[in-house]
Amino acid sequence: MGASRGSLRRMQDPNCIFCKIVAGDIPSQKVHEDGEVLAFRDIRPLAPVHVLIVPKKHVATLYDAAPADEKVLGRMLALAPAIAKAQGAIDGFRTIINTGRVGNQEVQHLHIHVIGGSEPLGPMLPRKAS
Ligand code: 5GP
Ligand code: ZN
Repeated sequence: MGASRGSLRRMQDPNCIFCKIVAGDIPSQKVHEDGEVLAFRDIRPLAPVHVLIVPKKHVATLYDAAPADEKVLGRMLALAPAIAKAQGAIDGFRTIINTGRVGNQEVQHLHIHVIGGSEPLGPMLPRKAS
């Protein structure tokens, strides 16, 4: 079941850029929308396919996800393969959730990156020289 427009407003942070995208106050290239989840193209793509999947409700980071958010988190992850395929990532993709300072999270609204294309993405993280 999705949230109504009014109840959604109450679940959002007026200073959050992704809440503004969810509300339609900032434009985005949407690739999926349902009652609880929005997916849109990353503005600075790192690969031919780079989509962000977000809960419509404002949840700042994975640390802030509550037991009540388990359903929407599961839905976001379950949507990733279909979104990846629909965008052209038919031979694999990577999902990333950056969290907090160490995770290098830039936007404080929980999101799953879906990244792919026709070429392998390379190692998950660069190995530090030993
Ligand atoms: P993070 O580092 O928080 O995991 O990733 C944030 C992502 O959001 C970045 O890849 C960045 O390019 C993207 N981003 C930041 N602002 C906007 C915006 O206004 N619109 C869209 N579509 N993506 C954005
Ligand atoms: Zn937000």
